[in-house]
Amino acid sequence: MRRKIVAGNWKMNLDFQEAQDLVEGIANLCEEKQPDCDIIICPPFPYLEMTSDMADDTQYFYVGAQNVNDNDSGAYTGEVSAKMLDSLGTQFCIVGHSERRKYYNEDNALLAVKIKKLLEYQIVPIYCVGEVLEEREANTHFDVIKKQIEEALFNLDVADMENVVIAYEPVWAIGTGKTATPQQAEEVHKFIRTLICEKFGEDIANQIRILYGGSCNAKNASDLFAQENIDGGLIGGASLKAEDFISIAVQASK
Ligand code: PEP
Repeated sequence: MRRKIVAGNWKMNLDFQEAQDLVEGIANLCEEKQPDCDIIICPPFPYLEMTSDMADDTQYFYVGAQNVNDNDSGAYTGEVSAKMLDSLGTQFCIVGHSERRKYYNEDNALLAVKIKKLLEYQIVPIYCVGEVLEEREANTHFDVIKKQIEEALFNLDVADMENVVIAYEPVWAIGTGKTATPQQAEEVHKFIRTLICEKFGEDIANQIRILYGGSCNAKNASDLFAQENIDGGLIGGASLKAEDFISIAVQASK
């Protein structure tokens, strides 16, 4: 039985006070509702230390970054390394979010290097894949996702692959209010698990966690999480309200 994950991607939202209030709100609701799943908060870089301190104090959640640079250190103004994330107690990191693929031209080859770098520091990559609307309409989404998986993950050895989380995020569903149906999502999750099985074997395929992301909220989470191959969610908008986020975590606990 795979333990479910509910991860909140705050993106570039909230000032420091708002971020602190949200982390406190999440911790209080965890105390009250005792959700039984892995909760990950992915705030912007400047709030990682505060979130990590709170995670240490309460033990209710893990901390994830939203991005990492592919180099170890050096003259890369404005960038943040895996070593820096590790030194702040960051346990997870989102890699290859569609917004980074789109606005910062991140391709599968670069993402493969970022994933390797994170694994060197025992940080779990949450690797995002997903098709844009035109690809879904042209029925090429399986090819797109296969390429994203093969080019960024198939160079890993089995020991590294064990420590990867995958998030299927159809781009047409992110921030749009148009959620994939549970059947649409399950079909792709099953496809991804089969790809992992073919390359890395059944044990890894059975244990790897595949999250759904894209307008997942407190109303639709339980139907999505009821699917056999959906192991939780990567949550954007709904992770900015403590009640909604923890309601989703409670639904993942059933
Ligand atoms: C995301 O950005 O990863 C995401 C899933 O966003 P939203 O939940 O707002 O669609």
